[in-house]
Amino acid sequence: METKKKDIRAFTKEQLRDFFVSHGDKAFRGNQVYEWLWHKSAHSFEEMTNLSKETRQMLESNFTINHIKVDQMQRSSDGTIKNAVLLHDDLVVESVLIPTKSRTTACVSSQVGCSLDCRFCATARLKRMRNLNPDEIYDQVVAIDNESRLYFDRPLTNIVFMGMGEPLMNYNNVLQAIDKITSPEGLGMSPKRITLSTSGVPKMIKKMADDGVKFKLAVSLHSAIDSVRTTIMPFNATFNLSDLREALKYWYNKTKSRITYEYVVWEGINDKLRDVEALVDFCRFAPSKVNLIEYNPIDEGDFRQASNKAIDLYVDTLERHGIVVTVRRSRGKDIDAACGQLANKS
Ligand code: SF4
Repeated sequence: METKKKDIRAFTKEQLRDFFVSHGDKAFRGNQVYEWLWHKSAHSFEEMTNLSKETRQMLESNFTINHIKVDQMQRSSDGTIKNAVLLHDDLVVESVLIPTKSRTTACVSSQVGCSLDCRFCATARLKRMRNLNPDEIYDQVVAIDNESRLYFDRPLTNIVFMGMGEPLMNYNNVLQAIDKITSPEGLGMSPKRITLSTSGVPKMIKKMADDGVKFKLAVSLHSAIDSVRTTIMPFNATFNLSDLREALKYWYNKTKSRITYEYVVWEGINDKLRDVEALVDFCRFAPSKVNLIEYNPIDEGDFRQASNKAIDLYVDTLERHGIVVTVRRSRGKDIDAACGQLANKS
């Protein structure tokens, strides 16, 4: 009976070293294989040319490398690239390369589908099938880094966990992926260039603070009034704003790291003065930045981008209270790659 091959990237370096010793070889072979798997991002054992043919065959008969495959790539007229990423079990997620003058940002997915139900988000319509493994998250970043070098002649500069899924519902795997991305044995990127964007899971925000993570935190807030937020993000009924605020205070006290709020202003939903005032009240306990993001309609639904007058009201009021605010135009709209549009439609 053929035994099932193991996913070699689920093994730590120590475990690989032990594997070689138990097969009568030197422990440092484990280091060599580990370097091929992560730093050099090898797709096959055949590529590991500093190993003997016998060693490569032995690895081949014991293990698989479940590398992702960029199945389809779409390019927007503004330069944004969207990858449809095929996983080893034929499921698909999406990741996006967002170029600006000085940066290339990778927006990566952390789950296949999403278990949360934000009313304005296309991903919410896909059932959550499973969490992504650390290597599947890592591979998305490598794929975008390669595309950045190929099409923009520069390496990837920033990463946001803002693709499909809620990263804090797949915390351990996301953390392991970030460890590999920031390690010199992986991609060696600075954690300061990585932002984890969450819809706000209070318990996990506190856990991140306790774990002493070095990356940045962004919260998709969209309303600082419970009744409004629950209408657009129904899980707010469970993780309400007072719990979220308490968790963010805890985060700030421990990390002293500024909090970014992602915020879309919709016509007739959160475009009044009372909405802006509630936002000011919510975030003034710590240095904060509010990103006002342009909305991308996902169908004929109830959500429409608010007027410029409403956006000006937000900008003026926030600035008056010393809160940093930016207005972000959406990118990649023509290929459904903009925020809230990822839904495996390509
Ligand atoms: S906005 Fe994020 S958390 Fe909400 S449904 Fe979409 S992917 Fe999930």
